[in-house]
Amino acid sequence: MKYWWLSPYIPFFENIDEKVLRSKQGKKQIDHFFKDCSFSIAIPSHYLDYYQKIKNYPIEQLSDCGLQLSFAYQIYQGKVDPSYFKKILLNQQLVTLLKQMQKIPNTYLPSSDYNIEETLEEITHLKELDTSMEKVKNNNVAACYTCRNIFYTDAIYQRNKQKKCLCPYCNHDTLYFDNDYIPMDTNFLYFAYLYYQDEIPFNKLLPLLKEKIHFTNKEKNAFTFEPEEPIGTIDFLKQQVYLPKSWYQRMPSGKEEDYLRIVLLHLLNEADENRTAILRLKFDLSQDKEVIPIIAMTLYSSILYYFLQNYFTNIQKIEMVVSQETQPLYESILQTLLKFKKS
Ligand SMILES: [Zn+2]
Repeated sequence: MKYWWLSPYIPFFENIDEKVLRSKQGKKQIDHFFKDCSFSIAIPSHYLDYYQKIKNYPIEQLSDCGLQLSFAYQIYQGKVDPSYFKKILLNQQLVTLLKQMQKIPNTYLPSSDYNIEETLEEITHLKELDTSMEKVKNNNVAACYTCRNIFYTDAIYQRNKQKKCLCPYCNHDTLYFDNDYIPMDTNFLYFAYLYYQDEIPFNKLLPLLKEKIHFTNKEKNAFTFEPEEPIGTIDFLKQQVYLPKSWYQRMPSGKEEDYLRIVLLHLLNEADENRTAILRLKFDLSQDKEVIPIIAMTLYSSILYYFLQNYFTNIQKIEMVVSQETQPLYESILQTLLKFKKS
């Protein structure tokens, strides 16, 4: 399922009442819910218009795109108007929507074998691609690097004045297609998003990695990522997060990238909330060199994404606890990224 990261909230929202809503723990969970949504769902500018069109549709009849926009509407309204949020929680409207979203199959594709140089090089040329309606006819799958959705081309039906087709989720013309032969994994989409967004220039964001990331081989109070069985729900209070076994298959997919990304974003957020200056992350994955570039790229794109949203963070330092053998690999990927300049 595509919205697996929302599932831990369902039992909490199902059992919610006025008392839970008023409690400290309840408020904290709700804050985390909004934060998780902001990490994973881009709120499109046209969501209000779109919502007006679909609001009377039965929820079971909405496509993924409709569900995501309806969800975007509810979380955005809920954020600006707590009484609205309270209402949709108490009448279970939000839970119904979340449950329906759990039925959407995932659209994750295998992680690409592009290294960091190839990824960055490919990203610089994205704007030169043809995104006319012709492309929709000749392709099956499209990806959007503004909202980071991957979807079948039959969901596309709008275009702008420049005749470029528009993403059905966010209404931007930032699409590419399967026949462009460009990676469609989440790391690629996150790097492309970071490169083209205009809130903080990419060249200003990159030095933060240099400033904050340090490597060490000593583990002292590190937050450990261990190769183990997958966990059903993410328990952030535990001092360990287990990566799914699929990380050890030859081809991890966007799902593994996303899993690690969400765990990391959540951890960074927790650390920030608790005014933690130094966050230590231990990666116990010394055996498999093939997956390290994917882990490193997920790590760096997630940290950049977090700093984009939280530029004035309390986190001064992120200590990466890695083995002596793997440290050069993590470092060389970081160095390549740091040398890159957006022209
Ligand atoms: Zn989009």
